[in-house]
Amino acid sequence: MSQSVRAPRPQPRAGVMQIAAYVPGKSAAHGGERSFKLSSNETPFGASPKAIDAYRQAAGHLELYPDGSAMALREAIGDVHGIHLSRIICGAGSDEILSLLAYTFLSEGDEAIYSQHGFLVYPIAIKAAGATCIVAPEKNLTTDVDAILERVSARTKMVFIANPNNPTGTYLPFSEVRRLHDGLPSDVLLVLDAAYAEYVTAQDYQAGIELAGSADNVVMTRTYSKLYGLASLRVGWGYGPEAIIDAMNRIRGPFNMNGPALAAGAAAVRDQDFVKMAVAHNSEWLPKVTKALEEMGLRVTPSVTNFILIHFPDEDGKRAQDADTYLLEHGCVLRQVGSYGLPNCLRMTIGSAEACESVIDLLDRFIKERG
Ligand SMILES: *Cc1c(COP(=O)(O)O)cnc(C)c1O
Repeated sequence: MSQSVRAPRPQPRAGVMQIAAYVPGKSAAHGGERSFKLSSNETPFGASPKAIDAYRQAAGHLELYPDGSAMALREAIGDVHGIHLSRIICGAGSDEILSLLAYTFLSEGDEAIYSQHGFLVYPIAIKAAGATCIVAPEKNLTTDVDAILERVSARTKMVFIANPNNPTGTYLPFSEVRRLHDGLPSDVLLVLDAAYAEYVTAQDYQAGIELAGSADNVVMTRTYSKLYGLASLRVGWGYGPEAIIDAMNRIRGPFNMNGPALAAGAAAVRDQDFVKMAVAHNSEWLPKVTKALEEMGLRVTPSVTNFILIHFPDEDGKRAQDADTYLLEHGCVLRQVGSYGLPNCLRMTIGSAEACESVIDLLDRFIKERG
């Protein structure tokens, strides 16, 4: 064997080194002072006590392999949402479901479309599968159905949309989702990432259960990382045609979810009173925070989620960074979103009442001090 043609060390597959690794939100500063982590859209309520109980019980069986078919969790999801088990796949967070979808349906030469300020996990999943990202511009920081349809080519295999979207907080009414679906060729897979569906109260919104339950080319993904408060355990699921779920199950790791996550997830989804409580808090504080910031002269993109996008008035992002530093120094951790093409904005999670009031007070002081 010739020595000269071999690289001096193992080489990643083509394209891997072009992927920009995902940067998570900063954690709350540790130390004596109270601090609020409002950088990753986590809930201020923790997990349902029923989920925590189930997790504790699972701790007694850590030596056993988990149920690779996630039966109890799929049954709980099926019961609560009124959908069939054979169309559900569970994963270590919906991130795993998004990656599985990309690995199952994309290969080199294929194209996948997502929107301009779409969730950054999509380009990672698309590139990791060796495919090419096509970015559709948005209008008013909202997914633009026509812009997506205009970019469909013979190579297009998938379209990813987050509805509502992170980090903008905006959404597409279901009529627009339907129009997008109607305009796609039958072999293009439409992925509806409904990570924030539980929070949306708008009457014209649907997460996509109906569409993913009837069309041959639609998958909806959901997560327990946000409202359900299980981000640390990694619980997510997808719902779609049996043929698609079957294909994904062939690639999925046989024990992709751990036992405590399966147990806690099943208990969490059955506790719908907990869901109602968290939604009620959000529905109270989302408009309150939005109004308070607008009264200070800040622009806030109208959100239907548990977070808001706050705009600072300059072009180079300096003021958003200064505000971020100021908030951080006073114990409030928000998210810079320059990597989403929004350098003048900060994203803030709707936290506890105390956290929301702190941010409102701090931004008021920041504006008065800095003019
Ligand atoms: C948080 C989030 C997810 C969920 O990620 P997990 O892997 O389930 O924690 C998915 N999509 C969007 C748009 C998100 O903001």
